[in-house]
Amino acid sequence: MRSIVAAGCARCPGRALAAALPAAKLSPLGGVIPDRSIFREKHYAPAGLVQYGRGCRFACEFCSIHAFYGSSLRQRPLREVVTEIEALQRAHIFLVDDNILMDGSLAKALFQALSR
Ligand code: SF4
Repeated sequence: MRSIVAAGCARCPGRALAAALPAAKLSPLGGVIPDRSIFREKHYAPAGLVQYGRGCRFACEFCSIHAFYGSSLRQRPLREVVTEIEALQRAHIFLVDDNILMDGSLAKALFQALSR
């Protein structure tokens, strides 16, 4: 059985501020393959770190995400993420999205795909 942990947050009091920020011009994430060789021979926890989406459309005043990515949210293709998780062959997956619930329907699609 595989366990999946999703990091990030699920609420934001700063929505009005986020609406005022311009969307950042950043490259799409489709086709991006993480280089996990940097983890080799390190003694990190045996969890597979995977990112489905990057960024957040909100701008909570205490959070640094919008300083990096503006109000953009870039999502990797679902199939790529599922394939990557399957290839990792790890018992534990750590989803390191900034705000995985930013788009609830995309998050639901991922969790449904992983539960099959
Ligand atoms: S990721 Fe940052 S800006 Fe987005 S909801 Fe969470 S705390 Fe707020």
